[in-house]
Amino acid sequence: QEPLPADMNTATIAGGSRKAYAVPVSRTPEIQATRIELPVVAEEQKIMEAVHNHDVTIVWGSTGSGKTTQVPQFLFEAGYGDPKGPSPGIIGVTQPRRVATVSMAKRVGEEMGDMKHRVGYKIRFDGTVTANTAIKFMTDGVLLREVSQDFSLAKYSAIIIDEAHERGVNTDILIGMLSRIVNLRKDMAKTDESVKPLKLIIMSATLRTADFAANSRLFRETLPPVVKAEGRQHPVSVHFSRKTKVGYVEEVFKKVKRGHEKLPPGGMLVFLTGQDEIWSVAKQLKQAFPSTSAQGSGAKVAVSAEETPPEDEDIALNTEQSNQWDAESDSDEEITGLDEDEVEDEFDIGEEKEFEKLSKVHVLPLYSQLPTKQQLRVFDSPPPGSRLIILATNVAETSITIPGIRYVFDTGRAKSKKYDRETGIQTFEVGWISKASAAQRAGRAGRTGPGHCYRLFSSAIYEADFKEFQDPEIIDAPLEGVVLQLRSLGLKSIVDFPFPSPPDVKSLLKAERLLSYLGALSTDGAVTVTGRALSAFPLSPRLGRMLYLGKNHKIVALSIALVAALAVPELFIPQSQLNLGDEEHEFDEEDDDRIDELRKSYNASHATLSRWDRTSDAIKLLTALCASAHATDTEAWATSMFLRPKALKEASMLREQLTSIMRTQSPGAIGSYAPRIPQPTDKEIKMLRQIVAAGYIDQVAQRGDLSPHPPELHRRPKRAIDVPYVTLLHSTDSSAGSSNGADANDSSKYVYLHPSSVLARTAAKNLPQYIIYSRLQRSASSVPGKIPKVRMHPLTPVSGVQLTALA
Ligand code: ADP
Ligand code: MG
Repeated sequence: QEPLPADMNTATIAGGSRKAYAVPVSRTPEIQATRIELPVVAEEQKIMEAVHNHDVTIVWGSTGSGKTTQVPQFLFEAGYGDPKGPSPGIIGVTQPRRVATVSMAKRVGEEMGDMKHRVGYKIRFDGTVTANTAIKFMTDGVLLREVSQDFSLAKYSAIIIDEAHERGVNTDILIGMLSRIVNLRKDMAKTDESVKPLKLIIMSATLRTADFAANSRLFRETLPPVVKAEGRQHPVSVHFSRKTKVGYVEEVFKKVKRGHEKLPPGGMLVFLTGQDEIWSVAKQLKQAFPSTSAQGSGAKVAVSAEETPPEDEDIALNTEQSNQWDAESDSDEEITGLDEDEVEDEFDIGEEKEFEKLSKVHVLPLYSQLPTKQQLRVFDSPPPGSRLIILATNVAETSITIPGIRYVFDTGRAKSKKYDRETGIQTFEVGWISKASAAQRAGRAGRTGPGHCYRLFSSAIYEADFKEFQDPEIIDAPLEGVVLQLRSLGLKSIVDFPFPSPPDVKSLLKAERLLSYLGALSTDGAVTVTGRALSAFPLSPRLGRMLYLGKNHKIVALSIALVAALAVPELFIPQSQLNLGDEEHEFDEEDDDRIDELRKSYNASHATLSRWDRTSDAIKLLTALCASAHATDTEAWATSMFLRPKALKEASMLREQLTSIMRTQSPGAIGSYAPRIPQPTDKEIKMLRQIVAAGYIDQVAQRGDLSPHPPELHRRPKRAIDVPYVTLLHSTDSSAGSSNGADANDSSKYVYLHPSSVLARTAAKNLPQYIIYSRLQRSASSVPGKIPKVRMHPLTPVSGVQLTALA
C-alpha cells in the first residue's frame, strides 16, 4: 500500500495542474462559491491521487461535507466517463434510496452548468440516462441487476458506492461482488487493451470504515486507503430529556412549539419516524402558529444569561465533537407515559441577550415518499420573518443536507427495515436509533454555526439501550434472493463469498433449502431451469416462483397482477388506523357518528373487494389492484377504498413491468399490457390460491383448537381472531410449545389471524383447518408488560388435499 503524500493540502488543489487529463466544466460563480466551502473539495487532490493509485478507495466525511455531490464531479473532470479519454466508461453512483438518487442527480446536474446533460439517473420505474450520460446515479438495486447481466460491468470506468455506512443488504452484496470485479477487470486489462481497470470508491459518513478498509476477506492484496474529509463542524450542545416519554409525537410537538417561542432565529430539524407522524405534527404546528399570526413580529425578547435552566430538566453538554460526549445519567428511570411539569426555562440557551422574535413558522415535511419537487423545497430559504421547521424521517440523517439548521429535535427513534425472513417483503418497525445515528442527527445542527440538539430521551436510556452502530441489514435479512443471485452467477460456495459482515451459515443453509423447495436449486445446489426463469424477475424467489407457475398454468395476466399486489407492502390502510377496533377491543363501542360513517364505508369497500373470494387476503389484494384499473380517478378511488394511493401506483407499475419482462422472456405467453382483466372464474381462483400456496410452501398453519382438544385451552374461542393456529415450524418442534396449562393467549406456540384479514370476519367455528401466511408479525406492545400475540397476514386457506399435492 502506497502511503499518500503528506504534504498535500488545500493550497495545492486549486490549479489542478497535476491532473494528467482534464475535462473542463464551467460552473456559475454561485456554485463555485459554495463548492469552495466544502471539506471534500479541499481534499480533491488527495482523493484523486488515491483513486489513481489504488483499485479501491474509501472516502469518509460527515454528512454535508460534499461526498455525494463532489466526488462524481472530481472523477468526471479527471476524464472518467469521457468517451475520448483514457477511461471512457461511465461513472456509476449508487444510493440506497430513490429519493436521494433523483435529487442528487439533479443537484449535480445543476452544479455542472454546461455539462448538465452528462448527468442522469436510473431508478426502478424511472430514469433519464441517455447515450450522453457520463455520471449515472442509480439505486443499489439497479446496479445489482446490472451485475447479473454483465459481471464485468464493462460499461463503467468507476463505481461509487455511496452511504455505505447504512449497510443495506444491497450495499454489502455489491461491495463483496465489486471486490472481485475489480480484480477481474485488472486481469482482463492485462491481456486486452480495450478493457480498462475499474475503480471502486466506497463513501461513508461514519467512521465505521473498518468493515471495508481493514477487511482482508474483501481485499486480499492491498487494503484500500481511507481519505478523510473532515468538516468544519461547529460545536453542538446536546440536551438530554430528564424523562423518556412513550408519547414522543405529542412531546416533540410541545417541545418544538415552546422552542419556536423562545429560541433565537435559526432553522429547526425534527426527526420523526414516518409520514403519519410528520403530518400530525405539521398540522398541530400550523394550528398553533397560523400564518396570519397576530403575534407582533419584531417584538424584542430579553433573555438573561443568569437564569440558567434548572438542572433537572435538561442536561446540557457542550461538545466539540458530536460523538464524544460523556453523558451522565441522573437517574435510572424507566420509560414513562406520565406527564411531568413543564419547566419554563428549558430553552434558555443563554447565548443571545436579545433577538428578533419570529412570529411565523415555515413547516416543511421531508420523507422518501414525498414527491421530489416538494422535497427540494427544503433547500429554498424560508419567507422573511419566519422560522424554517423541517419535519423529517431519517432521510435527513445522512443523505440530504439542509442549509441553515441550528436546532435539532431528535425523537431518537426510526422506522427501520425489518425483513421477515419468511416473505422477502420488508416491513418497518419503530425502534431506537444507534449512537452513531444520534451523533449524525445532532451534527445537522452544527453546519452553519454553533447549534443545539434536543433529545427526547434521557442519557440513561441512551447509554443503556442505544447500540454503537446499526447492525448491517444482512445479519437478519432473508437470504434466498441473495443466495439465488450468487448461485446464478456461478458461485460454487456461498459461504466463501466475501460478505463485509458474513451472515451465519445456518441462515445461508436455510435459504438454500427454501430455494430447493421452490424448485430453484437442484439437490447438488445448481440453479435449475426454473431457478433461472424466476431469478429474471425483480422479485423475491417466492413471488418469482408464483409467476413461473402462473405461466405454466396459463393464467399469466392474473398471476402477474397477484404477485404485483403481494409484492407491495401495505396496500391497505390497516383497520387499526381507522379506529375501527384493535386486537383487544374489536369494533369498539365509541359510537361516534364519524366512526359509524367510516365503518360503513369500510364494510362497503370490504364487500366490494372480497367479492371474488371471501376467504383469501391474497385474492382480495388482487381484486383491489384489478378494480383500480376501472377507476377514472385512481387516487380518489384508492382513498375511498382504504388503499394507499402511492402503494397502489407502485403495484400497477410493477404489474406493467412484469408484463413486459414476461413478454420478452416467453413470447406468446401474454399479450400486450392490458390494465383491465375480466373477473376470474372459480376454477381460476382455485388455481391462484394454489399458486399462493406454492410460493409460501413452508408457511402453513394448522388450527390448534380442534380435537383432540388441547389441554391448555380452557374454552373454545368465540372470536375468529382468538382461534389459535400452529405453524409447521412449531408442530415439528414439540418442545417449543408451553406445557404449563396456561390459557392459549399466553402460549408462545400459537399464532393468530391478523384482525385485518378477511378471515377475521368468519365465524370462529367455520375457520379453515389449514391456512397459508406470508408473514408473522408481532405488533408493538401498547400495554406495558403484556406481550402482544403473533399474528399471521395476509392469509389464504388451503385444503388438506392441496397440501399433499404440494408436498
Ligand atoms: P455528503 O454527501 O457528504 O453528505 P452532499 O454532497 O450531499 O454531502 O452535500 C454537500 C452540500 O451541498 C451540502 O452542504 C448541501 O447543503 C448542499 N446541497 C446538496 N444538495 C443541494 C440542493 N439540491 N440544493 C442546494 N444545496 C444542496
Ligand atoms: Mg451523501
